[in-house]
Amino acid sequence: ADTAPLDVISAGLAEVHRQLLPVTDGEVASYIPKLALADPGDFGLALVSMDGHRYRAGRADVPFSIQSVSKPFVYALALAELGLDEMHRFVGNEPSGDAFNAISLERGTGRPANPMINAGAVATTNLVPASSPQERFGRILDGLSAFAGRRLDVDEEVYRSESATGDRNRALAYLMHAAGSLSVEPQAAAETYFRQCAVRVDTVDLAVMAATLATGGVNPVTGESVVPEPVAVQVLSVMATCGMYDGAGDWLVRVGLPAKSGVSGGLTAASPGRFGIACYSPPLDPTGSPVRAVAALREMSRRFGMHLMHVP
Ligand code: GLN
Repeated sequence: ADTAPLDVISAGLAEVHRQLLPVTDGEVASYIPKLALADPGDFGLALVSMDGHRYRAGRADVPFSIQSVSKPFVYALALAELGLDEMHRFVGNEPSGDAFNAISLERGTGRPANPMINAGAVATTNLVPASSPQERFGRILDGLSAFAGRRLDVDEEVYRSESATGDRNRALAYLMHAAGSLSVEPQAAAETYFRQCAVRVDTVDLAVMAATLATGGVNPVTGESVVPEPVAVQVLSVMATCGMYDGAGDWLVRVGLPAKSGVSGGLTAASPGRFGIACYSPPLDPTGSPVRAVAALREMSRRFGMHLMHVP
């Protein structure tokens, strides 16, 4: 697609959208009560090229909470401050083979396997340097906004809904605190993570965010340098191995792109040096990834020859 004329990309997106619109498999997440109100018929696709062109199909401007799609971007912000070796003392780089919300921490150290599962994300969020939880969340919101290229805000209703039902994530924070892998007070640590998950985005935002990693850290729409190039490469690597949770292996075989899904129905993927691509569709498969978005990305990868292992 880097050499494809603009209308070929627009037509490809529109066709994939039309092709997958009839897919209605999966269940909208309901463990966060506010998410259960999402319209299962919403379906948006967006692609952002390295020169900052934004292509879209379907309902790409419906707002939704970012949820786990925030994880790689907040990991990038923390990594830019700490470096990989320091980060690795607190959060690993290995796929867990467990569900996104599993109570899986390394024996002895309490270290989460990777930053894409909830435990690792709660730890990563709280490694963003700050002198208070308010300041930390301010830095996270600024950073996510820089990735998206516009000022983002928090869906306070989703935040309250998740906080009211977030005991499992609080439990993870307490376990890590007890083991010494989380130094921030666990209650505050969990609330900062809940606020991060409630940041409001649309499909185009997610595509710009992935495109910012695909350029090596420069937002292709605003020209702002958001993270250094080595950080973008490290984050894309962790997305490739861990971004799709226990479906990560099958995803890499079939789609072949670093990606991240979330329980609200967002999915973002990056084709390094080529583009960022995103999809929104609320019904999820049993691993917590959006069914129609996974199918759409498979189809896009096939059409545009996006698989990373593809011989050029
Ligand atoms: N906020 C959600 C949670 O912590 C995010 C999970 C997800 O999107 N997979 O449960």
